Amino acid sequence: MNLKIYNSLSGEKEIFKPIHENSVGMYVCGPTVYSNVHLGNVRTFMSFDFIYRSLVHLGYKVRYVRNITDAGHLTDDGDVDNDRFVKQSRLEKLEPMEIVQKYTVDFHKVLEVFNLLPPTIEPTATGHILEQIELTQKLIDKGFAYESNGSVYFDVLEYNKRGLNYGELSHRNIEELFANTRNLDGQNEKKNAPDFALWKAASPAHIMRWNSPWGEGFPGWHLECTAMSTKYLGEKFDIHGGGMDLKFPHHECEVAQGKACNGTEPVNYWMHANMLTMNGQRMSKSTGNYILPMELVSGSNDFFEKPFHPSVVRFNFMQAHYRSVLDISNEAMVASEKGFQRLMEAMKILKNFEFKEVDNSPVNHQSPTINLKSWKEKCYTALNDDFNSPILIAHLFEAVNFIFKLKDGKETISENDLAELKTLMNDFVFDVLGLQNIEENNNAKLDQTLQVLIDLRNQARKSKNFDLSDQIRDRLLAEGIELKDGREGTSYSIS
Ligand code: AMP
Ligand code: ZN
Repeated sequence: MNLKIYNSLSGEKEIFKPIHENSVGMYVCGPTVYSNVHLGNVRTFMSFDFIYRSLVHLGYKVRYVRNITDAGHLTDDGDVDNDRFVKQSRLEKLEPMEIVQKYTVDFHKVLEVFNLLPPTIEPTATGHILEQIELTQKLIDKGFAYESNGSVYFDVLEYNKRGLNYGELSHRNIEELFANTRNLDGQNEKKNAPDFALWKAASPAHIMRWNSPWGEGFPGWHLECTAMSTKYLGEKFDIHGGGMDLKFPHHECEVAQGKACNGTEPVNYWMHANMLTMNGQRMSKSTGNYILPMELVSGSNDFFEKPFHPSVVRFNFMQAHYRSVLDISNEAMVASEKGFQRLMEAMKILKNFEFKEVDNSPVNHQSPTINLKSWKEKCYTALNDDFNSPILIAHLFEAVNFIFKLKDGKETISENDLAELKTLMNDFVFDVLGLQNIEENNNAKLDQTLQVLIDLRNQARKSKNFDLSDQIRDRLLAEGIELKDGREGTSYSIS
């Protein structure tokens, strides 16, 4: 079965042909770590987590690079005073690198809560300043860039004069770009308005600065991704992803930098994930129309009537195709929760269901409502059709209905089919969609929590604080949890 991917470059679904057989190089633009990620950011990263999981499941060996932007992403491309990190560090009275550390840790924690797999390489922009300086020099040497007042700009007009096509990814016309570029700081340093910064001279107040052949400065945001993707995936690689809003100018500039440096399209398949909206408007920090992921999970917000488990949120996101806009709402989350619970119940039934020889009662002689071979094919067709998670989920629910009938003795299944159904459902639900069984997770959490209490009780006993150690034992007993001290240590039983 051929995998088809919608390629933003051609505007069509194309059959996926990796550069190296069975291997995929995939780069996804990571977060700019100057504040907490909002739920919209999580949606994009989850879309690519699902794509990554699907590729692995389909048998590809994936090198998955997702960067951390920890320098150079200005709120306005030309405005040096709008360095996000410097601004936030002033606000929080922290060093810029403390800001970077704080929000990188937050980002990782949030993604773990939503069960996103880590990328195979997670490079940082500040760890690749040398590579960015080298690329800038290469672009100057090739005549695609020029220095001006200690900054270096990419010459868009020169690029187009050589028959290359700035605007090919975002399908924009160069004349419009010239007409529509706003007059920003640094504009008078540029030859033409659409030129973009590869390297920016640092003003005396700018704390994040590095030495370069053009004086002290810092790299441009677009160049960071070209430097890191080229270093780890090569001059040409298979998939580049990011949110829809990054297509222009960020990805357009990446295409131009790559083509100017190496003479070839840097990326074969450009994939763009669509936006999460709330109240019908794009979720965004700057407009205030956002919710933090942990606010949704803990319930501490005014928008949702109750807290929702991260797996329910994940299920809700997976019910929309990655290229569709998704509007988050209380009603949709409540509906997703019901669907998710039914799916998990079916998974539990399936796990514990043991094969029984078919008896001769007439009901058991009906042919099953599910033909495993064709059902499996439908699931893979959905996955291979540009990673269509909502259609895949619809097919999984056919199996869910079948599993409930199986439990009630209204369906039969052969021993081999039962084994295969178990494997396929586990693969799709847990490995590919990345959902987690809340009950099993809670059991693990309870165990960890009790171990903490046992440790604290042992510490109290050691320091002869018997009041406290007895209190821990008695209060747990009152909750039906008995601690038993033995030679191997303390164990517990729950009545
Ligand atoms: P940033 O940290 O601003 O570079 O954003 C990180 C990722 O989140 C990028 O891929 C953005 O395209 C994506 N993103 C930003 N807002 C939204 C949103 N409302 N819905 C989905 N993705 C978003
Ligand atoms: Zn990027």
